[in-house]
Parts: sequence; structure tokens; C-alpha cells
Amino acid sequence: MLKNIVIFGEPATGKSTIAKKLSFKLPNYKIVESSDGLIVPIARHFKKLPSNYNTLLYSLEKIVDKNLAAKAPINRKDAREIFSSLVKQYFPSFIAETFENIYSKKYPTAPLIFTGVRGYENAKYFKKQGYLVVFLKANKEDILERLSKKRGYSKKEILNELKEEDRLYLTKKIEKEADLVFNTSTICVAEIVDKIIKSLIPKKIQECKKCINTNQNPFIKFNKEGYCDVCEIYLKNFDKKALAKELALFKSFIGSGKGKYDIMVGLSGGKDSSATLYQVREMGFTPLAFTFDLGYFHPYIYRRAKKVAEMCGVDYEIIPVRKYITKKMLRSFRKMADLYKRDKKEEFVKDYVAGRREYQGVVRPCWVCRELIIHARYFEALKHGVRAVAIGINEWTSLKQSTSQKKLVVSAIRKLKPFPDKPAVYIVHFPFLIQAKLKDTKKILKKMGWNYYHNVQSNAASCLLACAAEEPLCKNLGFHPDTTRLAREVTVGFLTKKEAKRALQRVRKCKYSVPQVLKKAELI
Ligand SMILES: [Zn+2]
Repeated sequence: MLKNIVIFGEPATGKSTIAKKLSFKLPNYKIVESSDGLIVPIARHFKKLPSNYNTLLYSLEKIVDKNLAAKAPINRKDAREIFSSLVKQYFPSFIAETFENIYSKKYPTAPLIFTGVRGYENAKYFKKQGYLVVFLKANKEDILERLSKKRGYSKKEILNELKEEDRLYLTKKIEKEADLVFNTSTICVAEIVDKIIKSLIPKKIQECKKCINTNQNPFIKFNKEGYCDVCEIYLKNFDKKALAKELALFKSFIGSGKGKYDIMVGLSGGKDSSATLYQVREMGFTPLAFTFDLGYFHPYIYRRAKKVAEMCGVDYEIIPVRKYITKKMLRSFRKMADLYKRDKKEEFVKDYVAGRREYQGVVRPCWVCRELIIHARYFEALKHGVRAVAIGINEWTSLKQSTSQKKLVVSAIRKLKPFPDKPAVYIVHFPFLIQAKLKDTKKILKKMGWNYYHNVQSNAASCLLACAAEEPLCKNLGFHPDTTRLAREVTVGFLTKKEAKRALQRVRKCKYSVPQVLKKAELI
């Protein structure tokens, strides 16, 4: 079934023209004009409108007639009066709901084009019902000229009319709800019609040959062979020898600690961090296992992590990181809370784009958190006299085109050296460094006797903030927020496509909203 269309717009912006042209190109569609299709039939009942909506609906169904308007045209002032009293007597989205009720029954198999409908509440209703909401606008001079030609109004009369329309129908607000907005002063009718038709065709989903990235994510591009750009760069630049050198560097830190420990290991008690801790200790390190306290981890994480550390015979600390929060981070948390409060699709997409392009986004909690975590890892490593921090991340740390070298470096270790006079700290993506696969990790867990979590999970399993964000992100972006992260685990061969997809299948419902979690953590 094709999508229904509804065309809103300011007066004299070409709504009927576009609807007509659309119906030529889309012969299956039925076109219904608001005045002919609803306002005139209602006008017949206007003097004695039944107070019961169902009674009115029933009688309207009987008298709806295409030729009625020609016989009994209605002027704008009367139409406005009818609109106001209907809204008052029944409910704000009266026109939209009645339209839908009557015409989806009258044409049960045909998709519909509604035009000439007014009112912000009606636009909202149509959008909720999955209609393609089109909004037409035009430059003011053009509207003035068109109306004076069409209706012979004076400039003053037109301006009053426009003001009245906007006051009553909140026409300008509709622009924000619309799926498509066109300025008919700058785009020709044919082009508008083409764009509307194009947007009706559902996009074919393309998935990468190797990983689970799809074209639903606007940032993923595909090459001719069907690989996504991430896989393409990775496969072209992965170098086993470079990784072997990094492993040697990593091992050189054994016994290098200034105090009791020579490494810190980030631990949530999930499968990857638990296996990492165990293996790092087996290598001969003396680790300190730690969990950062951000104020929004599930409380059970700390109990679980402590248990794993005990099993490995390793010291464990919960490290509060509040002291590393900067004013800039607090601003980002506030921005995030506002974004989720408004819950608007366009804003989510816009922020996601900014996040991918310039690291300016706040829509993904991990983006905001990352800065804080990196900060905290660096200073805590210095404080504990260690040079390396190992974490259970199954993918590379960086994949960037360097300007000096032709080749990219697929690296498992990130060197942090923010100050020239202070030592460097090395952040190690341990499973990737040793090229572990999920089956290897499972073997290690078995050896440890740790059966806690076998399945691959989204970030929301341990982080309340990610959990609260998961559903709104899926809804507003059209794909699971962890897709890119798990796609990279598939790229490196840690997971199979099937395992990654299974992890993304379930969208977690959280009993708290993002602003609630942030408030609880005292971040806003
Ligand atoms: Zn890929």
C-alpha cells in the first residue's frame, strides 16, 4: 500500500495545482480537496451540528459528494468560522480525523491525496498516521501578487487575511512537522511533484558484504564490490606485522609500574572485560581492575565486576570520575537532555550528522561520555603509576588517514600524551591486539568458570544512559545506535553477522528517560 499524502501550505502557494499534477502521475491515488470533500458537506449541517461526533460522522458519510462544492461554494470567512466552531465543539484535529474516517472507508483500496486542509493540529494528526506531510510556502511578494490577481484584494486586505490564517491555523508551525517543505517561488511545480513521488518509494536497503552496516546510516558509503567504506579502509590497511610490534610494546610494560601495579584494566564484568583481565594477568602483569563511577551505570555492574576481580585474584577499585567533568561536558549533557525532551526526528538526525562529521553531536551518550572517560583514564593511570590501561574493546582504536604517510595504521593502542612534560599513557584495546574472536573469549570465560554473560549485548546492558537512549535513537534515526560499533566487531572478525544482528534485534525499553537518568546522576 502506498503512503497517503497531505498537502498543507499558505494561501496561494499552489496546493491544488500540485495535487492535480500529482494525481496525473499517480493514477492510483484519489485526490480530495478539503472544501469540496468536507467543509461544504459540513456547512449543510452547520446550523444543527449534532453534539455527538459519531452521529455527525455517520451523516457526513452519507452525503459526501464530489460535485457538491460546485453547487454550493463557500467563502473563506464562512470556512474559517466553521473550522473554529468544529475545533471548539469536537477536538482540535477534527478535520484530519474526519477526513481519514470518511475517505479511507469510501476508497478502501486507493491511497489518498488530501489538499486544502488547514491547521497545525491536523498536520500533527496526519503525521502520526504515517501520511507524507508536504508543506508549501512562497515568498511574500509572490503571495501578495497571486492573491491580488486571483481575488482582487488590496494589499491591506491580503495582509489581514494572511495574519488571520496564521492566527487561526498556526500555518507556520506546520512547516516544522512536514516531511517535505517546498518554496514554490524558487522550485517549479514539475520538480516538486518529482521529489514528492521519489520520497514515496521506499529506499532499498543495502548491506555491506562483510559487516552489518547499511545505507540506512547516511554516513555509510559502498564501493563497487559491495563493501562499506569502513570495511574497505580496514581490509586495505590491516597489517599483522604492525600489530605484532604493538603487542611487543604492550608486553614491555610488564613490571614497569611505579607502585604496586603495572597496568590498569577497565572492568564491567561483562564477557570482554572479564576475559581481558584474566589474560592480562596470565601474561604476567600485576593489574588493578577498576570501574569508573559515572553515576549512570546499572548498580549490579559494580557487584559483578568485583566478583570477577576476586576470581582473578586482582585488586579492584570503583573510581568516581566526577572530578574530571568539565563545564563543556556539563553543557553537552544539558544539550543531550533537551534534545531527548523534545524528541524530534529532524533534530536527532541533524545532531547525528554533526557528531559523525565534527564530533559535535550529543545524541549518542557514548559520544559525550567518551571525552570524560579518556580524561579520567589518563589521570588515573598517572595517579596509579602505570603506563598502560587495557580495555576489552574488540576493535581498533584508530583508523585515520595520516597526511604524511600513504598508508593508514590500523592500531590497537592509542597513545595519550596531552602534556609535553608529563608521561604518555597507552590505551590498549586488548582483544583486538591479540586478535581474539568471540569463540576464544568464550573459551577463556569457561576456563575462568565465569558464565555470567554469553550473549553479545548492546551498550545498554551496562549503561543506564545508553539504555534510556536506545529506544528514542532507534525510533528517530531508523537504525540501532550500536550498529556501527558492532559492525566494526564484524569487520575485524570478532563476531559473525548473525551474532551482531541478534544483539541488535532487541530494542531495550528503559523505565527512565535520558533526562531522568542525567538528573539522577546529578549531571543536569
Ligand atoms: Zn562493512
